[in-house]
Amino acid sequence: MHEATPNGPTIHLIDVAVALPVFDSYTYRVPVDLLPDLAVGKRVLVPFGRRRVTGYMLQFTDQIPDAAVKNIVSVLDDQPLFPPGMISFFRWTADYYMHPLGEVIQTALPTGINLAEQVRYTISDHGRRELGGQPLAPWERILCDHLLEGPCRPAFLRRLAGDAFSQSRLDAWEKQGWIVRQQALSGGRTRPKTVRFASLTATPSLDMGRLSSARRTIMEVLMTHGPVALSDLKSVLPTAAHLVRAMARDGQLRIEERVVYRDPLGDPITPDQPPKLTAEQHQAVTSMGAALGKGFHTFLLAGVTGSGKTEVYLQLAAMALEQGLAVLVLVPEIALISQTERAFRARFGECVALLHSGLSSGERYDQWRRIMAGEATIAVGARSAIFAPFAGTIGLIIVDEEHDDSYKQEGALRYNARDLAVVRARQHGAVAVLGSATPSLQSAYNALNGKFSKISLYERVDRQMLPRIVIQDLTAIREERGIRRFLTTELLAAMRTTLERKEQVLLFLNRRGFAGSLICADCGQAVRCKHCDISLTHHQQANVYQCHYCGFSRSAVSRCERCGSARIIGLGIGTERLEMEIQKIFPTARVARMDRDTTRRKGALIKILKDLRDRRIDILIGTQMVAKGHDYPNITLVGIICADLSLSLPDFRAGERTFQLLAQVAGRAGRGKVPGHVILQTYNPAHFSITTARDQDYDEFFRQEIEFRKVLGYPPFTRMVQIRMTGPDAQRLAAFAERLGEAGRQMLAQRPVDGRVEIMGPIEAPLHRIANQFRWQMLLKGPAVVPLHRFVRELLAHKEVQANRGRIHVGVDVDPVFLM
Ligand code: ADP
Ligand code: ZN
Ligand code: ZN
Repeated sequence: MHEATPNGPTIHLIDVAVALPVFDSYTYRVPVDLLPDLAVGKRVLVPFGRRRVTGYMLQFTDQIPDAAVKNIVSVLDDQPLFPPGMISFFRWTADYYMHPLGEVIQTALPTGINLAEQVRYTISDHGRRELGGQPLAPWERILCDHLLEGPCRPAFLRRLAGDAFSQSRLDAWEKQGWIVRQQALSGGRTRPKTVRFASLTATPSLDMGRLSSARRTIMEVLMTHGPVALSDLKSVLPTAAHLVRAMARDGQLRIEERVVYRDPLGDPITPDQPPKLTAEQHQAVTSMGAALGKGFHTFLLAGVTGSGKTEVYLQLAAMALEQGLAVLVLVPEIALISQTERAFRARFGECVALLHSGLSSGERYDQWRRIMAGEATIAVGARSAIFAPFAGTIGLIIVDEEHDDSYKQEGALRYNARDLAVVRARQHGAVAVLGSATPSLQSAYNALNGKFSKISLYERVDRQMLPRIVIQDLTAIREERGIRRFLTTELLAAMRTTLERKEQVLLFLNRRGFAGSLICADCGQAVRCKHCDISLTHHQQANVYQCHYCGFSRSAVSRCERCGSARIIGLGIGTERLEMEIQKIFPTARVARMDRDTTRRKGALIKILKDLRDRRIDILIGTQMVAKGHDYPNITLVGIICADLSLSLPDFRAGERTFQLLAQVAGRAGRGKVPGHVILQTYNPAHFSITTARDQDYDEFFRQEIEFRKVLGYPPFTRMVQIRMTGPDAQRLAAFAERLGEAGRQMLAQRPVDGRVEIMGPIEAPLHRIANQFRWQMLLKGPAVVPLHRFVRELLAHKEVQANRGRIHVGVDVDPVFLM
């Protein structure tokens, strides 16, 4: 760390991971005056090319690189953002998912705290006078108009100008002094929040009797409660703000800024006591608890819906805390709130930190700091919580509903939080518990081959019966008209009796909007998104046709693009139409809908859940959102409108997803005292994903599905890496994909040792255009991950990839979950 040169002072060098798409970390030199501020896990501002960017300090080093070493510019944090112990986890993640280390760290950190230097063009006073009078090309005129309105980023100007853009033109303007190129730091908005508190001065040598009654009230509050936030004093006394300032001037009290944590949920949760465990729960807690603190071990907790898995997690967590170990709990991403989160807060109160996307960036940042500081010893959150910055040893990592696809992060860094949970547990010598009523095939297979230990809960708490599930064949009513094609008489009759008994009904339909795909009744032309080649969905309330992939929408009064006909009709139904039709059939019932459209506003989902609990809703209609994690004690009938919607997708996991979804939805019935009843409508009454879901027979589903995977060589028998190629030019992209596929095949032919890697494709992706980006994909398959990784690295280094940089984006998806 201290490199003494023969005739100079000691040089301090550090390794920095910059938040840019580069694979190496870089070495920088630390000016002596910055040395005291520096620590592993802090951000530093470093020169990089022509810019200055944020980097993360990884370690001191004595490796002197070949190139000239530059100085760091400044240290950006007072406190480290992550403990040194996390660096090995970041490195593992970067390596396995083939993603730049600096970007991995950036993804892991709470959003809103990264600084980057941004270039802006500003028009000068000189430019204001001169530029407008110049003979300008149309594109230059447009740029000029925008510059007159305010500073513009280069990328924005480039977009405005389109193909006509020329950088040399901008450079010329800059030389003339008409525009100025400025570098400004941006981002980094999230800071600790401070609140003003009033507190007593050290010696309140006051005669209380001589104070006005208002002032006396304030003094009394402070004497009984200690320091109080000004906003809280206001609720005691409306004039408090004014008064407190006057009292501070008179030396009667003191006002101070305090750093506070933003309260993520705001609503108080009543503390609870652990209930007496059932025999099965007790057995599960005892055997998993015995493994705590004794090294790495993974358990698969397979417990039927309603078997009380959450209570098992809670008691294991208590045992880990007793040993002084931290606990990490992952829950599926469901808009804002989950019952698991509430349960942990009720049991463990203040030592729970929450991390999920429903929090504001300020709240996330605060929660993050509480974990770093050791104030929170339990972190509960959605997939990104896998990066919770515990400085101490984690003893227990729980993944609830481990089969849930939302653990897979799409986007730049494509990680799977469930898989990373096992990795992080191994690094900490911790126990990992993966829980589900419908375990992923991958985890069940790992349990079968001994990698995981399986613990089963077969019975519901209180011995409630699992719901009775009846299949109804939709083909029998195919010829009916309108909504009658989707509602069997059996389902309608069951709904009627349930409502008469004053119980609640849940209808599940996995498609939001009014209708499914739209076509022209005259020429048969499908109504598609103009950016995505995907059928639009009719949303009646807004009266628009909307694309569910890019958000594009157009007025529903528009005509057929091919023949101009106004007769556009919808095939199939969505939740919005179902809600309307159900209300017509049951005019006195209170009907509500829960999908992405009705829960967009903050608090909307919580309101629906509360209304349901307080029985202000008789019939709830919902998409897969209703299947996740909620416990609705008074729902006794679940109607699955069409079980097949996810079955026909071109993805080898379609059967697994369908089974999981159906079994989970069915499991929402009969969670209270009254036994539940499920009617499952389908066009494929004999399909094994559907019959096994009816029988709630996970083992039989597993037996058939695993056979299919084995025969076709799909995971878990092989590993996969998907190469995703996207670009705005369809022909260029197609040609590129073909050439890359060819290059890959040649590489394999020359290298027999990698012959175990197999290339599938390249093919045009099933969703072949999203938001005007064309998409191709190539799937690589092999029995082991190491040769696959090596092969992908070579492929990415191929000159074709380099030659098309900037025009074609090549993304890597290790262990892909979505293949479309
Ligand atoms: P799962 O997650 O396995 O589907 P939950 O954890 O939601 O099941 O438990 C179902 C219900 O049973 C919850 O309301 C929970 O509070 C309750 N419960 C769990 N364990 C017990 C117990 N030992 N005694 C009483 N109630 C329990
Ligand atoms: Zn679209
Ligand atoms: Zn038409």
